[in-house]
Amino acid sequence: MDFSVIDEQIRTLESRLETTGEVGVDEKLYVGVDLGTAYIVIVVLNSRKEPVACAMEFAQVIKDGLVVDYMGASRVVRKLVAELEERLGRSLTHAAIAVPPGTGKKDCTTHQYIVEGAGLEVTAILDEPTAANAVLGVDNGVIVDIGGGTTGLSIFEDGKVTYVADEATGGTHLSLVIAGNRSISFEEAEVLKKQKELQNEILPVVRPVIQKMASIVNRHIENRDISAIYLVGGTCCLKDMEKVIEKDTGKPVYKPANPFLVTPLGIALNC
Ligand code: ATP
Repeated sequence: MDFSVIDEQIRTLESRLETTGEVGVDEKLYVGVDLGTAYIVIVVLNSRKEPVACAMEFAQVIKDGLVVDYMGASRVVRKLVAELEERLGRSLTHAAIAVPPGTGKKDCTTHQYIVEGAGLEVTAILDEPTAANAVLGVDNGVIVDIGGGTTGLSIFEDGKVTYVADEATGGTHLSLVIAGNRSISFEEAEVLKKQKELQNEILPVVRPVIQKMASIVNRHIENRDISAIYLVGGTCCLKDMEKVIEKDTGKPVYKPANPFLVTPLGIALNC
């Protein structure tokens, strides 16, 4: 696995939040829509599967993979699609989506309707770890996805998911601890947590929560032959959190350039 190639691809995608690549009038585009607990992210790739545009919005419309605000989710997806179409000068026609492992058929259909409501035909419904692994290419190891609400694990053996688990404890819990520690609101803590220059001070405050995440990983991988841990999900953006996970699990940890964008990129790759 060449991590530098993966990191370069993710950095290009990150830059596509601000800039837009050129696309031909008839060029095939690959689109991925990630409906998460904290963010909705849409990624567009060109015919060579290079990132050309990316848009995202904070939206609490999904909980534990289930749509809790259908109208809100539809509104955000429509808005992001319109923004991307305007930026690219092209209409978007197809998209892949992803859901947490174990999501029932009915709930998958709800996700699908939200995206179809924005005019995109859904060509694939993936599970999130499989989407992340389209980028990472893990044969044997565990992908740990730490999002807003949960720490999810997917163990891969010979490139296939053989075990999944998902437990409460995610970025929301970090923000609650920061809010208590600084006597500020949850919303202020969310903003503060993402400020790179403050993350050295924040890490000691939230270390016990990250240790709890590491203990979740340990419990699920014990008695299994796991050679490495691969971190994805927004919470893994926190500077040096991977060091805490590495120390507490005793396993080598790989954290991509921007763990937040791995799953959205993987969804688009599967369109
Ligand atoms: P879940 O996986 O629980 O369904 P989700 O898919 O919405 O949620 P992500 O979008 O991967 O989760 O991550 C959202 C979390 O990541 C939020 O708690 C957010 O505060 C946190 N987060 C995003 N960016 C950063 C950052 N730069 N530093 C620290 N935390 C961040």
